[in-house]
Amino acid sequence: MNLHEYQAKEILQHFGVAVPPFAVASSVEEAKAVAENLGLKTAVIKIQVHAGGRGKAGGVKFAKSPSEIETIAKALIGMKMVNRQTGVEGVVAHKVIISQPADIAKEYYIGALIDRNRAAPVLIASPEGGVEIEEVAEKSPEKILTMPFSFDGKLRPFQLLRLTKFMGWTGDLAKQGIALAQRLAKCFIDKDASLLEINPLVLTPQNQLLALDAKMSIDDNALFRQSEIVKHFDPTQISPQEAAAKEHDLAYIAMHGEIGCMVNGAGLAMATMDIIQLHGAAPANFLDVGGSATKEKVAEGFRIILSDPNVKAVLVNIFGGIMNCATIADGVIHAAKELKISVPIVVRLEGTNVQEGRRLFAESHLKISSAESLETAAKMVVAAAKGG
Ligand code: GDP
Ligand code: MG
Repeated sequence: MNLHEYQAKEILQHFGVAVPPFAVASSVEEAKAVAENLGLKTAVIKIQVHAGGRGKAGGVKFAKSPSEIETIAKALIGMKMVNRQTGVEGVVAHKVIISQPADIAKEYYIGALIDRNRAAPVLIASPEGGVEIEEVAEKSPEKILTMPFSFDGKLRPFQLLRLTKFMGWTGDLAKQGIALAQRLAKCFIDKDASLLEINPLVLTPQNQLLALDAKMSIDDNALFRQSEIVKHFDPTQISPQEAAAKEHDLAYIAMHGEIGCMVNGAGLAMATMDIIQLHGAAPANFLDVGGSATKEKVAEGFRIILSDPNVKAVLVNIFGGIMNCATIADGVIHAAKELKISVPIVVRLEGTNVQEGRRLFAESHLKISSAESLETAAKMVVAAAKGG
């Protein structure tokens, strides 16, 4: 689950990380009120979207007067940002953060993420932070420090020494940098983050380290024990299909193809996507209905698949182990009748209670073709999508 900058900053502040005074607004009136509240005559105003690179995309603006705060807030609230991170659909900002501008003597990068190859959290830091960090990583990787750390979230003295040396921090700045890195690592572990990034971390002319930006993602599998963070979920930042799937606890990921897929088990879902591709089409989604889905949940999954206008045909591929094939049939038939669907459906069922499942489909009077093998099912659904 991704968080907005203002949410990540609230969390970081709680762990003792210094950030400039800020507030969030979702209307011009609110922007005016919060700026007055903070006593701001000038402000940095930034769109709140689940994507980085806002500065370069025109989503970070500097207001030099109270009236500019209003005009900029007006322009940025509702702004749609499109860049490499958002995909062609872009993301719309419903909120902006309004913060006290900071003077910058130097910009650093510091962050933590889970490195799957090392199976460990790693601290990443660079003395050359800011909007060009990706270029730094590409062109001068030696300017980036990558340092695995312990799952207890405690950085060891030798690691802190290495960090301060790498960043060029001495004296009081080293003290501040060490405290900051320790707080960042603790926050990362305590909150079950998969990514926590401060870019830029700035040094002010008064020699204070300040987090000007923050980006945080939480491991979805840990949300059950992060009830405070779950409250920060913002459904406006994902597709309507993904939002509906989340609400019904379905594992759904939107893709760009034309074949809707309803499958149980992540492995089978991946294999299904592969075989569709092999036979010349592309999947419109990944959907794992899981092993214990009810008829209602199956119906909801089917509705979500069909709400994607690109879907030209649907493949239902179920291997009933724990899943009962009759439940799948019930759910699909229920949703198909309710939605009066016109796209062809190909069904391949195997496993628990398969006879009953097949009987339900056969007697449903819906235009459903069934296939015995995955190969045949894939060929049939690709042909159906192409109008064959
Ligand atoms: P991003 O582009 O989405 O990463 O948004 P950031 O919040 O990182 O802002 C982009 C850039 O704007 C930063 O790297 C800074 O150079 C600049 N910036 C942001 N806030 C301030 C500020 O308070 N003062 C100054 N001088 N520059 C800022
Ligand atoms: Mg940034």
